[in-house]
Amino acid sequence: MSDFDGTITTKDGLYSFIETYAQKGWEKVEQDWVDGKINSKECLTEEFKLVPNLSEELISEFIRTLSIDESFVDFYKKIVEKNVDFYIVSDGIDYFINRILKKYGLENIKIISNHGEFRGEFFEISFPNDSQNCINNAGTCKCKVISDLKKEYEKIIYIGDGVSDYCAAGKADVLFAKSRLLDYCGKKGIKCLSYNTFEDILFLLAPKI
Ligand SMILES: [Mg+2]
Ligand SMILES: [Zn+2]
Repeated sequence: MSDFDGTITTKDGLYSFIETYAQKGWEKVEQDWVDGKINSKECLTEEFKLVPNLSEELISEFIRTLSIDESFVDFYKKIVEKNVDFYIVSDGIDYFINRILKKYGLENIKIISNHGEFRGEFFEISFPNDSQNCINNAGTCKCKVISDLKKEYEKIIYIGDGVSDYCAAGKADVLFAKSRLLDYCGKKGIKCLSYNTFEDILFLLAPKI
C-alpha cells in the first residue's frame, strides 16, 4: 500500500490547491492544524470553505498542473502482473486522486481516503475511514487501515513520505520511506528502506515479489 500526496504525486496536491485558490485566512487554519489545535478533518473542511467559486472546472484546471512520479505507472503495471494487491491510502480526497490517476491512464486502483463530491454547488467532504481511537484524529486513520488489512494479508509493504504515514510506519512488514518519514524512522529506530522513485522500489522489491 502507498500514500498518495508527495509519494505518488511530485508535490502535495491538496496543499497547493488550497495555496492557489483559497482566500485569506487559510494560512491560519493550516497553522492551527500544525499546532495541533484542530485535526485534519476540521482543517480540510475549513480550508475548502475558503475557496470561492469552487467547481468541477476549477478542480480540472488545477489537476492539469499536477504531475506524478512517472515511474509509478510502470510500477503499478508490474505489480498487477505479479498479482500483488495494491491500495492507495491517503488523508487526501478521492475526487482529486481519481482524476489525477486518470490523467495517466490509471483506473480502478483501490483507494482508501476521504470522500469528496459536489452536491449542487457545494463540495461536501466526508470521512468514511476515520476512527474514534485515532491518536492523530486523522480523516483517514492509516493505523486502522493497516491493522485491518493485516488480518487479510500475510505481508504488508508500505510506501510513504510524511507525517500522515507515521502511525502506519511501525506496523508495516516492509517499509519504504523518503523525506520526513525517513527522518522519523531514523529517530525512532524503525527499520525501513530509503527510496526516491517507484523505479527504486521496483528494483528493491523484484527479488521479493
Ligand atoms: Mg504524503
Ligand atoms: Zn490513526
